Amino acid sequence: MDADLVVAGAGPVGLAVAVLAATSGFAVLVADPRLAAAGGAPIDKACGEGLLPVGLGRLRALGVDPPGRPIAGIRYVGAEGGPAVEAHFRAGPGRGVRRTVLHQALAARAAEVGVDMLGAAVTGFAQDGAGVQVRLRGGGGESVARGRWLVGADGLHSSVRRAAGLAHGGGRGRGGPAAGSPTLPRYGLRRHAVTSPWTDFVEVHWARHGEAYVTPVADDLVGVALLSRGRPGSWAAGLAGFPRLAERLGAASGPVRGAGPLRQTTRRRVAGRALLVGDAAGYVDALTGEGISVGVAQAQALVAALRQGDPERYERAWWAVTRRYRALTGALVAASGQPWVRPLIVPAARRLRPAYAGLVNLLE
Ligand SMILES: Cc1cc2nc3c(=O)[nH]c(=O)nc-3n(C[C@H](O)[C@H](O)[C@H](O)COP(=O)(O)OP(=O)(O)OC[C@H]3O[C@@H](n4cnc5c(N)ncnc54)[C@H](O)[C@@H]3O)c2cc1C
Repeated sequence: MDADLVVAGAGPVGLAVAVLAATSGFAVLVADPRLAAAGGAPIDKACGEGLLPVGLGRLRALGVDPPGRPIAGIRYVGAEGGPAVEAHFRAGPGRGVRRTVLHQALAARAAEVGVDMLGAAVTGFAQDGAGVQVRLRGGGGESVARGRWLVGADGLHSSVRRAAGLAHGGGRGRGGPAAGSPTLPRYGLRRHAVTSPWTDFVEVHWARHGEAYVTPVADDLVGVALLSRGRPGSWAAGLAGFPRLAERLGAASGPVRGAGPLRQTTRRRVAGRALLVGDAAGYVDALTGEGISVGVAQAQALVAALRQGDPERYERAWWAVTRRYRALTGALVAASGQPWVRPLIVPAARRLRPAYAGLVNLLE
């Protein structure tokens, strides 16, 4: 065996699995083509970059405490004007952390606990009663790694999910209903703006066709994520739907990164010795900013199951650790998909402030 666990994907959830498994005594190999493609630079990705208090706690439990800007709570803002509504996190602050900073912190921790990392893509695998043979492409050639388990932490468009026969469709992609239709799949774009954060809240701006959320990530920088139904056009076209926010933001900084369709469903998380985790295991939406935290909770459940040598235990635990996220985020996305509901969301949150505060404090 080259490793006990071969992990496909060095995103936050793949690295969380790696750290937890290595500290439980497993030998771990993580493969990700972007470890090589970026020439050693930290991996970036479209992300709102907000860590809610529960998620921050889960990362700290891994020995990872990345620097960033404290986040006091969540503020909903109507893009067309009107008073905003905000709620503080009762459990203490969350944190806005640049994606690259988070990757660096997780990768450093993984190296510290003895995880091997390889710049290669997982292209397929075979399994038998004793283990998995994982095909890799990278570093100028093809190779095979042998392990006891393969963990697919390879994101929304997971190739491990496909190879394991666990894919369940997903977003509808091109074509389909007219722009703005609630049945169109959702996508996200992310960029930064050079400006001093004007608030220590994550602001979610609600417009007719999408949401913009703004996260303070450094003293002179905010992250802006645009979420919309249907394939997004340019960054400028997306931001034009939020004129008051666009006016407030300073110069844009860095590349635009995109992701989607966001909604991904899977038949199961476990196929013999292959297990899916994080976005690869199924994803609802970025609207509530919980992907990393819920992913780390899945990582904990996965490693606990493998310590018992019982992957089916992870299948059951996955449903439990994602239940609240699937229900709450799914309900919010479904409701906000109705065009007549969207203009009512911020006023309703204002009128039902205790309920809004309760919901903010249910988020992970
Ligand atoms: C617009 C947007 C805003 C968001 N905002 C937030 C937020 O504020 N807070 C939050 O917690 N979450 C947020 N999320 C969700 C969060 O980004 C994801 O849930 C999180 O990144 C999932 O981590 P992961 O490790 O499962 O997958 P990823 O981060 O996608 O990592 C997957 C890795 O797998 C690698 N990979 C792909 N194919 C292969 C292969 N064949 N072999 C090996 N490796 C492969 C990729 O290179 C990548 O590095 C947001 C998402 C979007 C799209």
